[in-house]
Amino acid sequence: MAEKTIWFDGKLVPEGEARVSVFDHGLLYGDGVFEGIRAYNGRVLKMRTHLERLQQSARHIQLQIPYTIEQLEDAIREVLAANDLTDGYLRLCVTRGVGTLGLNPYLCDNPTVFIIADSITLYPQEMYTSGLKIVTTSTIRNHPAALSPRVKSLNYLNNIMAKIEAIEGGGAEGIMLNHMGYVAECTGDNIFIVQQRHGWPTLVTPPAHAGILEGVTRNLVIELAQEADLPVEETDLTRHDLFIADEVFLTGTAAEVIPVSNIDGRSVGSGTPGPITLQLNDAFRKLMKHCPEN
Ligand code: PMP
Repeated sequence: MAEKTIWFDGKLVPEGEARVSVFDHGLLYGDGVFEGIRAYNGRVLKMRTHLERLQQSARHIQLQIPYTIEQLEDAIREVLAANDLTDGYLRLCVTRGVGTLGLNPYLCDNPTVFIIADSITLYPQEMYTSGLKIVTTSTIRNHPAALSPRVKSLNYLNNIMAKIEAIEGGGAEGIMLNHMGYVAECTGDNIFIVQQRHGWPTLVTPPAHAGILEGVTRNLVIELAQEADLPVEETDLTRHDLFIADEVFLTGTAAEVIPVSNIDGRSVGSGTPGPITLQLNDAFRKLMKHCPEN
């Protein structure tokens, strides 16, 4: 495979030269923040929204990113061009930088910033037509008063523990509940259900206060639903709500809009992707043809 070009601390360098120190607190402690961003047809989906979320995550953890949003936008375009990619996935990481072996983040002078551009397929294509099997994990999502799930931090161990459980339990994704026992989200995706109410479909998804990462794709799908006159509610959900839902789907930058066909051994609806999921997936695909950057 050809060597990739990485944007690393302001310069484009070959992959082999993009090296992070063993004293970097991003590596030693997961101390840093990141974004996963996607490009379609040479345009970067919701680039500004992603960079604003990155800034908010950084602000929460008292990390000063040494570049402006405009500089990061230029960097994203540069790294896509350098890798000859018009469609692909970008990983932008900001670590606390090199410090001592102690925890003190104030001893780290310069954050390390790098951007990787690559191609991506998260789930096999057939899962978009047949749906995913997912399972509830016993690992709950981080308590918002510990590390807020709204911070997209480099410390994903909470989610990785749940992902291990999901895979061991035969699921492609794992549902994580919050500290109150309500559904929060999946290990790397947000979750939606469709409830038929008197013959009219309503979309329901956990609210930000449920302790979730407020996904860019989640918010985009809410907009698409509203444009299609589908009511959307952000309400606490239980596993019972998932089990009796007519449709369930997940959203994420990498996953896009993906149907769920089975939860904890129970078929969702008829067991095949439902009409609202397909409609929203279709609206999402159409929008990506002229992919909105803001
Ligand atoms: N929740 C978690 C925990 C995530 O890591 C992600 C991103 N992979 C999402 C939700 C989806 O967010 P977005 O749509 O912004 O990619």
